[in-house]
Amino acid sequence: MKINIMTLFPEMCEAVLSESIIGRARKNGYIEIECFNIRDYTCDKHNRVDDAPYGGGTGMLMQAQPIFDCFKAVCEKSGKKSRLIFMSPCGKVLTQEKVKELAFEDEITLLCGHYEGVDQRVIDSIVDEQISIGDYVLTGGELPALILADSVARMIDGVLPNAEAKELESHYNGLLEYPQYTRPFEWNGVKVPQVLLSGHHENIEKWRREQSLLTTLKYRPDMLEKARLSEADKKFLKDKQ
Ligand code: SAM
Repeated sequence: MKINIMTLFPEMCEAVLSESIIGRARKNGYIEIECFNIRDYTCDKHNRVDDAPYGGGTGMLMQAQPIFDCFKAVCEKSGKKSRLIFMSPCGKVLTQEKVKELAFEDEITLLCGHYEGVDQRVIDSIVDEQISIGDYVLTGGELPALILADSVARMIDGVLPNAEAKELESHYNGLLEYPQYTRPFEWNGVKVPQVLLSGHHENIEKWRREQSLLTTLKYRPDMLEKARLSEADKKFLKDKQ
């Protein structure tokens, strides 16, 4: 899979995407991520990419021309019209379901706004959808794009050390994850739950499922309404409420 990021701050994105798990996955060819500097495509002789909004108001707006031409270059490079996602507080809030859907694409392109955002004609003519990372406003689309890129990348085979890992995490199956412990066995007077040392695979699985249900009930009871629950899960929760 390839993720293109259209931004005014490619170094900011590269700094994050070159590190740790995603950095290794890129080096090993499991995922391709390329940053395009929108400023490289401006026709303005002073290299400007923004201007004041018509009708007045504070702040500057990213102009249509550099974004259009940058996206044209992205599509020419890939030989097709890439699915263009504008990171925006006006979009639908990103969920794990959406992440899974995007991970099936061969290629996606993320547009990062800055300042007051982008000229509406960009959104109306080339943007396929808008995605928000939450109901709050950041200074730019780079952090949202990095969050989306990271969450999608870890769904791609080979990016995580074992295929199972992503399926056991919070949200993948509509629940939050169970508590986890590592060495030492006792720390600050608190011991690791005995069942985890039992070596009894079935009991460990049962304990983890129940803890996952309890954690979800405690922190995100709203998720239980949509989660796929077995009869045993429902009975367990009923007894706990
Ligand atoms: N004027 C815009 C509004 O009121 O909707 C906010 C612009 S914001 C200061 C600048 C850029 O940051 C946006 O164009 C967008 O790319 C990005 N951004 C800010 N908050 C975001 C969020 N919650 N999710 C995704 N992108 C966001």
